[in-house]
Amino acid sequence: MTLRTTTRDELAAYLAQTLNVAQYRDYCPNGLQVEGRSEIGLIVSGVTASQALLDAAVDLKADAVLVHHGYFWRGEDARVIGMKHKRLKTLLANDINLFAYHLPLDAHLTLGNNAQLARIIGLEGSSRFGDEQLGWLGHVSTSTGMQTVADLAQAIAQRLGRTPLLIGDGNVPLRQVAWCTGAAQGMLGDAIAAGASVYISGEISEPTVHLAREAGVAYIAAGHHATERYGVQALAAQLVERFGIEHHFIDIDNPV
Ligand SMILES: [Zn+2]
Repeated sequence: MTLRTTTRDELAAYLAQTLNVAQYRDYCPNGLQVEGRSEIGLIVSGVTASQALLDAAVDLKADAVLVHHGYFWRGEDARVIGMKHKRLKTLLANDINLFAYHLPLDAHLTLGNNAQLARIIGLEGSSRFGDEQLGWLGHVSTSTGMQTVADLAQAIAQRLGRTPLLIGDGNVPLRQVAWCTGAAQGMLGDAIAAGASVYISGEISEPTVHLAREAGVAYIAAGHHATERYGVQALAAQLVERFGIEHHFIDIDNPV
C-alpha cells in the first residue's frame, strides 16, 4: 500500500457522512473540534483526547487525532485555563487537527462502539432500545459456547483484558443480553423493559446495584474505557482503506 494524503476538509466531510452526524442531538460538537494543518497523512486514534494521547501524537508527528471523547462538553467551564489550556496549546502549537465523534460513534451499526463490542465479545444484536436507540438487545453467538452469566463475564474479562464487576447470580443461564458501552448504567431500566436478563455497560453507580438486584437482572460493569476502545479503531481502519493514510491507535490505559 502506498501512503497517500488527504485534506482536513475531505476527511471531515467523509466522517460526517459516514457517521450520520447531523441526525444526533449530542452534548458536544461532533466533527472537527480543533483545526490544524490542511494536509493529512498520519492520524492517531484513541478513546479520549487526554494530554497523554496528544503527547504521543506529537511524538509521532501526527496530522490529526481522532477520538470518541473530545472537548467542549455542554455545561463545562468555557475558560481556556489549566488542563484545557495545556491540551489546546499542544494541538495548536503543533498544528494538529482534533476530530471527535461521541454519540454517532456509539451508535453506528457496523463501526460503532456497541457494534464493535458485540464483535469482540461474541454477541449478536437483534433490536435496539433507549435514548437515540443506543442500547442493543440480542444474545450470545452460539459458536461461543457461553451458557451462563458467569461464562459471559469470563469472556468479557478475557477479550477486554479487564475483570468486570458482576452484580447478580453467575449461574443463571443466558437468555436475552443487552449492552451499551460507556456510562450507560442509567439505561438499565430501559434494558429491563426491553426484556434483558443481563445488561452490560461500562460504568456502574450505587443505585444500579439495587435496581439490578430487585429486578432479578444481572449487571456487568465492563469498564467505560475498555468497552469504548473499538469503535474508533474500526472507524480509523475505514479511513486507512478509503484514503490510504497511516494510522496508529494508542491505548492510554484507564481502569474506569
Ligand atoms: Zn464514553
